[in-house]
Amino acid sequence: MTLLKVLEYPEPILKQVSKEVVQFDSSLEIFLSDFIETLNSHKYCVGLAAPQVGNLQRIIAIDISRARKPHPNNGPLILINPKILESSNFKNVREGCLSIPDFTANVKRAMNIVVAYQNVQGEAKTLATKDFEAHAIQHEMDHLDGILFLDKISNPASELFRRVKY
Ligand SMILES: [Zn+2]
Repeated sequence: MTLLKVLEYPEPILKQVSKEVVQFDSSLEIFLSDFIETLNSHKYCVGLAAPQVGNLQRIIAIDISRARKPHPNNGPLILINPKILESSNFKNVREGCLSIPDFTANVKRAMNIVVAYQNVQGEAKTLATKDFEAHAIQHEMDHLDGILFLDKISNPASELFRRVKY
């Protein structure tokens, strides 16, 4: 297994739109094992999107059980070709990003979502989730469309915060 380099803003790859995964083969499996190892190598990291490691495919990994504070969660998840089917209960929430290591921001996210996706075998699945897990999925899905939280804030003076190192 190999640790993958996480790209940081303003790397142009982060602004590109990723492609649907169509081949569920051994090269995907190899990428996923490196991708998960990379996520797990970052303390408190709860999600990663494939374009953040330079792979422009619609793949995200989520693991809210790794958060610094406990949240209800479904454990480690890999969502391939995810699509939001339903979203409701929007709130402003603080978020960070491995690709923007020095800042956090307040972003409006749905606290309840239903997401369709394919698992690592290519089988169609649906997940209903809420709160922090729903929030993290939306953040990672934005990466698949080249969107960073910096693109979602209108007033940096009140919505962007220098990250507190811990
Ligand atoms: Zn991010």
